[in-house]
Amino acid sequence: MSPLLEVDDLRVEFGRGPDTASVLNGVSYHVDEGETLAVLGESGSGKSVTAQTVMGILDTPPGRITGGSVRFRGEELLGADPERRRLLRGESMAMIFQDALSALNPVYSVGFQIAEQFRFRRGMSRKDAMVRAAEMLDLVKIPNAKQRVREYPHQFSGGMRQRAMIAMALALDPELLIADEPTTALDVTVQAQIMELLDELRRERGMGLVLITHDLGVVAEVADRIAVMYAGRIVEHTDAASLYAHPAHPYTRGLMDSVPRVDDVSGAPLRPIPGLPPSLSAIPNGCPFHPRCAHAQDVCTDEVPALREVGSAHQAHQAACHFAEQFVAQDPDRPTTHEVVSR
Ligand code: SF4
Repeated sequence: MSPLLEVDDLRVEFGRGPDTASVLNGVSYHVDEGETLAVLGESGSGKSVTAQTVMGILDTPPGRITGGSVRFRGEELLGADPERRRLLRGESMAMIFQDALSALNPVYSVGFQIAEQFRFRRGMSRKDAMVRAAEMLDLVKIPNAKQRVREYPHQFSGGMRQRAMIAMALALDPELLIADEPTTALDVTVQAQIMELLDELRRERGMGLVLITHDLGVVAEVADRIAVMYAGRIVEHTDAASLYAHPAHPYTRGLMDSVPRVDDVSGAPLRPIPGLPPSLSAIPNGCPFHPRCAHAQDVCTDEVPALREVGSAHQAHQAACHFAEQFVAQDPDRPTTHEVVSR
């Protein structure tokens, strides 16, 4: 059976001529039914552009898809009829964004905005659609949903607005949900509640979930697999337990070392990754991470490392580093997923 979603060698550029920015440079991943794939990386790594391309909402121009494939249940989406893509959005695949306040329309009640989908996609009456909207708010655990369905976004707290966005995304029972930094604007307690809710809904509905984040701690307990992105490429990809226990790419190790650990009482300062991600219109030759990598050798400036298998025969684990085997074998006492927290 084909995966729910397959992204294969996806390439996207922005701009023209000497200012062309290669935003995606051959991104491939897949998501199965009922599975959570976390896509991790710093801002500008290409996580959100990949999601927007999958959803068919990439602004073109300035974006330009220059290669690759996006298949949903085996159906090619790139180049598909815009009406077909519009139908798939909401019905089969949905996306939630990090800033719920900007995503919700301030002049309509929250319930009205959820109910619109039932009216226009399911042909329900206004009254029935509002009843379903209240049921959706109840599903995402908003207290007094029947009353609150008539309230406006500014009357909801940040956590409740994000729950309302989740309710809106799930209204038409999609098979795939893409959550783009769904907890970034929220405090730590609410972050945990939202992640629990997404995980619960995924399990109950058998949805595929793509969770985009820059925070290793947020996905530690909910991701089945993790794809780490850097400069528009996937640089490491494996199951969550293997990634935390045996990170094979120095960038992944850098991300992990910059996250506080609950079991670390040494008081030692965190170790941030030096420097900044490269400009996508001037990606360094060779390994794009080499200017920031403490382990860089001559070969790293000359040859782009391919994403290749570095795991055991029983464990799929890919990394794009010339020396990945050395790193994967190090540090038998790295933290488990349970020991990695964001705060
Ligand atoms: Fe560092 Fe070289 Fe590996 Fe790139 S290929 S991550 S520069 S060691």
